[in-house]
Amino acid sequence: MIEYISTRGGVAPQSFTDVLLSGTAEDGGLFIPDEWPEINLDFLQRMAGMPYAHVAMEVLKPFIGNAIPQGDLFRILEQTYSIENFDHAAVAPLVQVGPNAWILELFHGPTLSFKDYALQLLGRLFDYELQKQGKRVTIVGATSGDTGSAAIHACKDCKNIDIFILHPEGRTSDIQRKQMTTVEADNVHNIAVQGTFDDCQAIVKTLFSDRGLREELHLSAINSINWARIMAQTVYYASTVLTLGGTARSVSFSVPTGNFGNVYAGWCARTMGLPIEDLIVSTNRNDILHRFFGSGKMQVGSVEPSISPSMDIQVSSNFERYLCDLCERDHGAVVKLMDSFTKNKAFSLSGELTHKAQKTFRSYRCDDAQTLETIKMAYDYTGMLIDPHTAVALYGAMDRIEDRPDTPTVVMACAHASKFPEAVEQATGKKPVVPAQLDNVLSKPEFFTPLANDADKIKDFIRQNAKQ
Ligand SMILES: *Cc1c(COP(=O)(O)O)cnc(C)c1O
Repeated sequence: MIEYISTRGGVAPQSFTDVLLSGTAEDGGLFIPDEWPEINLDFLQRMAGMPYAHVAMEVLKPFIGNAIPQGDLFRILEQTYSIENFDHAAVAPLVQVGPNAWILELFHGPTLSFKDYALQLLGRLFDYELQKQGKRVTIVGATSGDTGSAAIHACKDCKNIDIFILHPEGRTSDIQRKQMTTVEADNVHNIAVQGTFDDCQAIVKTLFSDRGLREELHLSAINSINWARIMAQTVYYASTVLTLGGTARSVSFSVPTGNFGNVYAGWCARTMGLPIEDLIVSTNRNDILHRFFGSGKMQVGSVEPSISPSMDIQVSSNFERYLCDLCERDHGAVVKLMDSFTKNKAFSLSGELTHKAQKTFRSYRCDDAQTLETIKMAYDYTGMLIDPHTAVALYGAMDRIEDRPDTPTVVMACAHASKFPEAVEQATGKKPVVPAQLDNVLSKPEFFTPLANDADKIKDFIRQNAKQ
């Protein structure tokens, strides 16, 4: 029976269900499985070409254990990865762009970013578990971009969830705002805060630190540190390896990276025994991770806006999970490093550990000018329009594609080009075609409540509108 422990070693082992609903561990750490399940490669090999939900079932079963009966789990997976939700029959299709180079399209979900692949499942798992326990939760979050819309689309049909998403009024892109505000459901509440994104985040923090409110409304977060999101993301690594290499040859991935969630899922897949060679951490000008993999020193800088905004991050919260494995689960060492990170905004690893990290991960930094050049290059060579995040990943993959033509390199396309039309047009002179999901959104009426930058006013609004 699988159990979950904290990276900091300070909580008793928990079941999948506890970890799903609680999000973070009480000692400030993040949940990880107490042992990595092993993938049975022979069995998995026979799954090549099977529907995505079947592959998901095989990969996820060991992480969930007895927490959800298998029949129920399979039904949830089939609903999640159905054609009503993901507009491509392969769910995560591969497109060949060179002799041994591929793009993995992770933008076929309702909000056209890869976050749908995990959040669509997370919303359903939440609803299933809450139904079983006869509970409701109130999800509150702040967003500047992709996460808020993916979370709203994941929760809009959930009977046991009310969701409140705060965005800074007038400070999000039109497309990103409309993907949130055009959802018409009585459990979805968009709040336009008269302030900045940092104000929104500060308000959410204040609400969560109010113990009374937390208990009264059963506050919950669907943030990027929920283990179930990582788990769900290992599935497309498995489906890709099955399609391209099976057990015969290993595959490498270049991943546009911010919070280290997506590329960490690749690390999990590799640790479980999938034949994955290099994991390439591709960052934009916010290059804390690139600097880390070069030097072993994690040093926070200031966040600079870029044309790939979903990676404008300096603190990659999921990194702690990798750190724990890198330190061979020496929880004391993790606590020491994370304390130093909180206090000094920095920590350094020994030469030995740095070297070990460099064996699995390569990293690149791609600034805005290089991002635009890469979008143009992709268009000139393949006729495809790629979004700026995908361009950062392609940039990071180029050396490997040239040096290692013998094994497949996969570039993760984490957003559809039409979500970032300005950059794409600037680079190529072409306007990306708008898919149906977005076309509807642009013309529909918007629903949101403008509120002052005042935690008490927002607290009142949530109290009045949550059905708790
Ligand atoms: C969230 C996001 C990323 C960063 O992913 P992490 O898991 O935070 O590293 C990259 N690209 C796009 C389009 C995103 O939405």
